[in-house]
Amino acid sequence: MLENKKVLFLRDVYPDIDLIIIKYRMKSGSFDGTEEKDYHVLKIHPDFRYDFTIRCINRDCKDGGFDLFGVILSAIISKNDKITGSATCEGWEDEERIKKHRCMSDLFYEVSILYHQDACQDK
Ligand SMILES: [Zn+2]
Repeated sequence: MLENKKVLFLRDVYPDIDLIIIKYRMKSGSFDGTEEKDYHVLKIHPDFRYDFTIRCINRDCKDGGFDLFGVILSAIISKNDKITGSATCEGWEDEERIKKHRCMSDLFYEVSILYHQDACQDK
């Protein structure tokens, strides 16, 4: 089933969305406490993959990372155009610490969703 999975693009799923902007910064878990001061900016255009995963700041992290899919989906459903929040990585700190120590990096995000002003206009 997985191998037949078609790549979905944002426009296939939500044709009414012009752009999704994800601004985020991270703070690493207990091991060194690195905190990013500046935001990374991800711009997801209609012809980009329908995928909102962000890799963990901790390069050794196992099975971690962040998926903003649920957050963005609920914003779209409630017609919200701005969401801010945070999440904690649930991966493992590194290979040696699998099942022993969680990664615990934090992600701080701001998501803006731009809908078409008038869906008929640009057709
Ligand atoms: Zn992590």
